[in-house]
Amino acid sequence: MPLYTLGAGQVAAGVKSREFSAEEYIQQLLERIEKVEPKVNAFVTINKGAIEHARTIDKKIRDGEQAGPLAGVAVSIKDNICTKGIRTTCASRMLESFVPPYDATVVTRLQDAGAIVIGKANLDEFAMGSTTEFSRYGTTRNPWDISRVPGGSSGGSAASVAAQECAASLGSDAGGSVRCPASFCSVVGMKPTYGLISRYGLVSYANSLEQVGPIGRTVSDVVSVLNAIAGADENDHTTVGGKPVYTLQERKGLRVGLVREFIEDTDPAVAKMILRAMDTLEGQGCKCKETSLESVAYALASYYTIATAEASSNLARYDNVRYGFDMSPEGYEWNSYFAKARSSFGEEAKRRIITGSYVLSSGYYGKYYLKAQQARSLLKDELKALFKSCDVLIGPTMPILPFKIGEKIDDPLKMYLVDIDTVIANLAGMPAISVPAGFVDGLPVGLQLMADEFQEQTILDAAYLFEQAANVRGSPEL
Ligand code: GLN
Repeated sequence: MPLYTLGAGQVAAGVKSREFSAEEYIQQLLERIEKVEPKVNAFVTINKGAIEHARTIDKKIRDGEQAGPLAGVAVSIKDNICTKGIRTTCASRMLESFVPPYDATVVTRLQDAGAIVIGKANLDEFAMGSTTEFSRYGTTRNPWDISRVPGGSSGGSAASVAAQECAASLGSDAGGSVRCPASFCSVVGMKPTYGLISRYGLVSYANSLEQVGPIGRTVSDVVSVLNAIAGADENDHTTVGGKPVYTLQERKGLRVGLVREFIEDTDPAVAKMILRAMDTLEGQGCKCKETSLESVAYALASYYTIATAEASSNLARYDNVRYGFDMSPEGYEWNSYFAKARSSFGEEAKRRIITGSYVLSSGYYGKYYLKAQQARSLLKDELKALFKSCDVLIGPTMPILPFKIGEKIDDPLKMYLVDIDTVIANLAGMPAISVPAGFVDGLPVGLQLMADEFQEQTILDAAYLFEQAANVRGSPEL
């Protein structure tokens, strides 16, 4: 079996037992990348130092040193997460030549665990989008059908994992950006509880909503990556707790609630697949029931109000002075320079800046932003109450199947609607995961599982149980 097909655990075991070297493994992956990238376009930058890094890991092992639980494992990193010495573009012209002088905490932690950064993964500009079409570096394509979107905004991350260009990836999720592409590409993607993972070195889009999240081909790989990155960080004061350790375990008797609102207004073929997933869980000894979450009705409006408000203030720092691209100030006074420089943002980023400034402006703050925060509290309270009688809530990750490239790009509202099921976990700060549920006409469907704050182990248990029972088929032909 080619080495590029291996999961994180298998790679680390193989490298440590010297069945194969990290260098051989990375070499095979680079060849794989060369072969499939013309079709998939998952990467913005390939790390030229990956082979060299692999050699240092092989040397450590030869010298009998500890190489870490992820020894040699190749990971891609979403290109809005800072990597020292490797440019971090956010798929934007604004950061096309930005080379961070430091690593994000999550990157440091992955490397401390022995992982190798193979490259920087494509995304929607500044992580704003659901398809990876809003990238300065071209659209990433869905490895299961390259005429379709891979989801977004961490589309490059999910596609690179699905296309076997790396074993795992880090994405970021403010409203579904890890889970949406995981669902569309038939891989596993998790958005942890707000505060579990450091955001130090993650380029901010919507601070109060986003978390870095792991993506892998199996729940086991997601657990391995999560264990490496989770836990408090003194550089990010929104992180809490110590250093949790998650395990892969069989657990019976979980109480599962299927959220009715998640099934309504969903593509019937997707809904059918989710009902089947519920049967599968029931067959595994879960106690399943239907339940309701009424405030779903306000979720999307609340999310897009808060997210754009935060985005507009975060993006204010890009003035093409402190960061930016080459543009001579000759012939401009400050305002015209600023306007011209900022016109380099893509359509979607501009739309968010304008919307966000509007909802925060003095006459409208109470009408929109404050209302959105109230709806957010309402949603969280309702969820908290539901979690008294359910361990996990389930539904589809995405209400529709992966659609054609270009299909929704001209209609922002249609685009926003696809996030209906994912934004809820972000608004509530709760963990959620997407696991492959099966295929409809060859296109992936993801099952979303959500739990109360810091109940990561519970959703991992449920996801693992489902994964083992559902046995959804492996990787696409490319
Ligand atoms: N699709 C959502 C948005 O465009 C989510 C983005 C994200 O999670 N980064 O805002």
